[in-house]
Amino acid sequence: MDLDHLYQDVILDHYKHPEHKGLSLEKDVQVHHVNPSCGDEITLNLSIKDGVITNLTWDGIGCSISMASASMMSGLFFGKDVTEANVALESFMSLMHSKGTQKGDEAVLEDAIAFAGVSKYPARIKCALLGWMAYKDAAVQAQSR
Ligand code: ZN
Repeated sequence: MDLDHLYQDVILDHYKHPEHKGLSLEKDVQVHHVNPSCGDEITLNLSIKDGVITNLTWDGIGCSISMASASMMSGLFFGKDVTEANVALESFMSLMHSKGTQKGDEAVLEDAIAFAGVSKYPARIKCALLGWMAYKDAAVQAQSR
């Protein structure tokens, strides 16, 4: 499998300069997710106030796809309404399960459409979804408090 073409500039850029990386002291919920098939790990802190994501920080180790995807997710969701974030989350999950048939909605996903090509590689999909699934888990917990 040739992964070279998956490593688009925008992905490498987020990998080298991740957004919202480094855990905040303030948090409502903290979750830790792992992707055993690749060895990626992420810890995510989330605060939701009046339906708005007021804090979303993370830290982790793993491949460039998992780390860049977590960076894009946090950049996209930070400060957003939970309902808006859910729309983007559904859109990204649909894209990652599209087996390369979708290009992604840039208006909703912004930089994260860079992962469209990753959906053709089942082994990498969990890498790309790791941060987003961690957010989903944390959001459910934060909203049930
Ligand atoms: Zn990975």
